[in-house]
Amino acid sequence: MEVDWNVTDWSTMKVLVTGGSQGIGLGIAEGFAQAGAAVAISGRSEDTLRHAAKRLAEQGGQVETVAADVSSRASCTQMAAEAEQLLGGLDVLCANAGIYPECPLEDLDETGLAEIFATNVNGTIFSVQACRRGLAQSGRGRVVVTSSITGPITGYAGLGHYGATKAAQLGFVRSAALELAGDSITINAVLPGSIRTEGLGGLGESAIAKMIGCIPQHRLGTPADIAAAAMFFASEEAAFVTGQTLVVDGGQTLPELPED
Ligand code: NAP
Repeated sequence: MEVDWNVTDWSTMKVLVTGGSQGIGLGIAEGFAQAGAAVAISGRSEDTLRHAAKRLAEQGGQVETVAADVSSRASCTQMAAEAEQLLGGLDVLCANAGIYPECPLEDLDETGLAEIFATNVNGTIFSVQACRRGLAQSGRGRVVVTSSITGPITGYAGLGHYGATKAAQLGFVRSAALELAGDSITINAVLPGSIRTEGLGGLGESAIAKMIGCIPQHRLGTPADIAAAAMFFASEEAAFVTGQTLVVDGGQTLPELPED
């Protein structure tokens, strides 16, 4: 049988990264931009977006910024329209924006739960919904969702509400894969382990040292580790992969016994 090797030409690709102003999202944006793709990053703070765009542009990347709040359906609609206009179309959506405020179970109330679900779950769904038309027009649309090992695979005291949102994203991905397949759009999820980002800094250095102790590779992951996985799902080579998950955690979820 003759194999038709589709090799990715990143220079033709137009990519929107939500939560692209810092942390994992900025790392994803950096990966695509350095490969030659045209990238738009979104987030709520225009200052943080400007700062991130400057950093990417200094590295030679083509980058646009779109201020948006993914918890609002209307804001997502506007984000998609602006990104498509700035980039001249859309091939890849990285639905990455997310929050992870710690909160013990007994303190969880309606407001806190509504807020985390609004950003992590509603935000993912609204972003995909808003970008669907543009991705369908691309003819090779890709969605890459940033989920987590926390929830789908592991537990973390104080992050039960967060774990619920990260598991919910995967439920969405599997059903959306069926609805999007007819438009030649794939949707997959990356499940990062512990990745050193601005957001993780809030947990404190002693929590971070504990995390490193649980990782067989003895280091935190980097945003670039997650970018590589996102770029695999966005590549031509992954055209037949949809509704799937990829754990990127340095082996954190593997051990049956603690190390000696
Ligand atoms: P981060 O450093 O706190 O960055 C979060 C990004 O999301 C920022 O750009 C932020 O910009 C944006 N954002 C937050 N709420 C938003 C909203 N309502 N609308 C639009 N943008 C919003 O976080 P991170 O550590 O990079 O995490 C990114 C993603 O990876 C999240 O989905 C998180 O659950 C996931 N993850 C992280 C880790 C880790 O170890 N760091 C592990 C597993 C999974 P603004 O605040 O300006 O809006």
